[in-house]
Amino acid sequence: MLNYSLKILWEKEPLDFYFMCVHCFGAFRVSYPIKKINEMMYKPYSLQNFREIPQMKFLSEEQKFGIEVVGTVLPFKTDNYVVDELIDWSNFEKDPFFILNFPQREMLGEKDFSKVASLLKQNVPRAGMLNEVKKIRMKLNPNPAEQESNVPEFKGKRLNGIQHKYREIMLFFPTQGQTCHAYCTYCFRWPQFALNEFKFAMKEADQMVEYLKANTHITDVLFTGGDPAVMKTKFFEHYFDALLEANIPHLRNIRIGTKSLTYWPYRFTSDPDADELLRLFGKVKKRGINVALMAHINHPGELKTPAAKEAVNRLLNAGVQIRAQSPLLKHINDRSEIWAGNWKEQVSQGIIPYYMFVARDTGAQDYFAVTLNRAWQIYRSAYSQVSGIARTVKGPSMSCSPGKVQITGVTEIKGQKVFVLNFIQGRDPSWVGKPFFARFDPHAVWFDELKPAFGEPDFFYEQSYHEMLA
Ligand code: SF4
Repeated sequence: MLNYSLKILWEKEPLDFYFMCVHCFGAFRVSYPIKKINEMMYKPYSLQNFREIPQMKFLSEEQKFGIEVVGTVLPFKTDNYVVDELIDWSNFEKDPFFILNFPQREMLGEKDFSKVASLLKQNVPRAGMLNEVKKIRMKLNPNPAEQESNVPEFKGKRLNGIQHKYREIMLFFPTQGQTCHAYCTYCFRWPQFALNEFKFAMKEADQMVEYLKANTHITDVLFTGGDPAVMKTKFFEHYFDALLEANIPHLRNIRIGTKSLTYWPYRFTSDPDADELLRLFGKVKKRGINVALMAHINHPGELKTPAAKEAVNRLLNAGVQIRAQSPLLKHINDRSEIWAGNWKEQVSQGIIPYYMFVARDTGAQDYFAVTLNRAWQIYRSAYSQVSGIARTVKGPSMSCSPGKVQITGVTEIKGQKVFVLNFIQGRDPSWVGKPFFARFDPHAVWFDELKPAFGEPDFFYEQSYHEMLA
């Protein structure tokens, strides 16, 4: 047996140790021995194979057929982690994670459901159903908030994998990240997976860099999708290295919008290239650029598994900042105690509560929608249940075409009941932080349904907004 005397020289990367042999002076790299718990091999389930899931024995044939009908219109995918670790199958019909991943009959209107059901019963091949299915999809507002208008033109070319709506932030849609480990039934980006003409994607790192260099007010690049964390580390490296090599002084934050922390936490723990990914994040950090994971966390139960906790720990140890955001969703998290519990759990694990969104006006919105009045009450009640450290959260916020509109309150002014609104973000930064008022409407679920208060013909920003779009 070789008798090497090894001596730790230095800790070069957060997850590596370097050793030197005192006889031959050769250096060796040894990975930091983090114990990996609960390793799992990723197995996706979709319409093609979901009947193989052992727990499907708990569903009636009618329920399974319902999944097939709705899953023909809206994207459907789950994975073995969600199925085995998150869903409580003893109460699956009410389980938030089951509803989060498995299409529910009520997510389609009655007529549309019957139409697709009858085509499936007649065994019409998928290709033959496409026209009907597309008609239904087009009714579900596949392009909310006029995202098309956020795609910039640069040097005579439309950059279809970039969106630039707010001055300081550029969204980048890497081609390799335009899917997710599992799909949310509420997904606001569902056309990314179902309708090619509404797909945003780009793999040219040089164009992203050029656009960024030319726009010196951009401080943040948000990698988004789909879920960019489905990408292999080598693709992250490709994009991140291009950004680092370009040495762009105004780039301060790289953000990654992801749900993998709770749909597939092994991405950051035991996947074959998980350690390399964390090392890469550490490398970016050392160059003085903040790496922020914008994690979708809909329910506190998502953070309670050993695998999710380990993933959070490893990311924080690698110097990554984690911020949590989610829409408010009927059937999943429409109680203030759930939100308060979510924020408390986040803070205790070192995650920063960031946004409560209102479910967007697309896809299965009717199924998930909560009135704006109720959203505000839930937010207010949850906010009052947590200590100041969790009050970094902002909401309820609607991501609509002019900007992110927050419902700040409901009050009465000169005898008129009103919503008090505020732009958290705006196409024009001068709109931000200026309170404005809409007539109270107890049934409204989205910004477009609101009318200006006090007999005003328009909201204050509308004229310049229309000029901007024109
Ligand atoms: S993780 Fe995000 S992009 Fe993916 S399905 Fe869920 S909401 Fe949509």
